[in-house]
Amino acid sequence: MPYEPPEDFLHALRGLLERVPTPFYAYDLRRIEERTRRYLEAFPAARVFFALKANPRLRLLARLRAAGLGAEAVSLGEVLRAYVAGYMPDEVVLNGPVKPPAVLGELARSGVPTLVADSRADLERIARRLPEARVLLRLNPDLPVDTHPHLATGRGDSQFGVLPADWPDVFARGRELGLEMRGLHVHLGSNLNNPADFAARLEVLRRLRERVGPLEVLDLGGGFGLDLDPRELAPRMFALARSYGAELWIEPGRALVADAGVLVARVWAEKQTRRRYLLLDAGMTAFLRPLLYGARHPVRALYDAEERGVFDLAGPACESGDVLARAVELPVPREGDAVAFLQAGAYGGAMAMNYLDHPRPGEYAWDGRRWEVWRRPEALPRLWDDEPDRPEPI
Ligand SMILES: *Cc1c(COP(=O)(O)O)cnc(C)c1O
Repeated sequence: MPYEPPEDFLHALRGLLERVPTPFYAYDLRRIEERTRRYLEAFPAARVFFALKANPRLRLLARLRAAGLGAEAVSLGEVLRAYVAGYMPDEVVLNGPVKPPAVLGELARSGVPTLVADSRADLERIARRLPEARVLLRLNPDLPVDTHPHLATGRGDSQFGVLPADWPDVFARGRELGLEMRGLHVHLGSNLNNPADFAARLEVLRRLRERVGPLEVLDLGGGFGLDLDPRELAPRMFALARSYGAELWIEPGRALVADAGVLVARVWAEKQTRRRYLLLDAGMTAFLRPLLYGARHPVRALYDAEERGVFDLAGPACESGDVLARAVELPVPREGDAVAFLQAGAYGGAMAMNYLDHPRPGEYAWDGRRWEVWRRPEALPRLWDDEPDRPEPI
């Protein structure tokens, strides 16, 4: 059963609507705590790193750190953001296929997290620039997985990681280079809801064990879809880590935050073309997932009306793809009534962008009693702050 936000949260949203501009993101902290506890309890002897690209707000990161989680980053910016939120370098893992020299140089100054090397070239550059680094080597498990193609990072034709046939040699090369090679990293992709994908990966790793000696760390990444029960996955993941003599690490992102968050937008017009539309003040620049991944998010009305209708919900961009949901049944709104898109707490606010000079939405969190600001609504002049208004020599 998909999670439904509780009545008191929806009521609090109606109150918030009176005080802040739309569109905005809002999170129920109690749900984030519940999801985090569920993962910590299912993985008691593992280290859990929150994939901060799912929702990088500083206030969230500080709370998750207090709950005992580390942070998984995929860019220099995310590493520095985690440090700003209070994380120490040994609480941060940096992934990503490209780590240019300038990034490694900045890490040398600010603190070196555990690095996940993604290729032989990556490993050699790390050895030259950060010879003291602790390193995992990413495996490309060469597996098809059951998710949107843009989210399937573990396929053999994706750009990520080192294929199983090459992995043992590249890992040994890291040791030759003098790096502290701690273990193996593998991330299958995002939004995986089919336990068979996790089982297939375990099988690849079981076979690889014959060619790879004991490791200190086995990092099985994230990708846990909302429908999965972590308690059902954990025992076999622990057993695999034990077979490597390794500590288990995991990197959930979406699973901890997605269903705690909503995007709230107001309806400013109803119109009929060949379809019946509601026109909202939020679209693809506030919430990219429907366009980027064909994601479907349930919609709830934050108003009442007797009459109901079936609508497509479109945003303000001059792009025919700027539709957040299709064929949604809702009470017929009046001008200014608001709707909430559910399950928007992961990869929602994080992907908001400034295309069309749209300022990014505010973000707010509810603890059951009061609201706190996680991100102020972006102010318009900031969007052109970095642009010279007269010729500027380089
Ligand atoms: C994106 C990502 C994650 C988190 O994925 P979710 O689907 O949000 O759990 C974890 N690890 C790596 C390497 C990632 O790229």
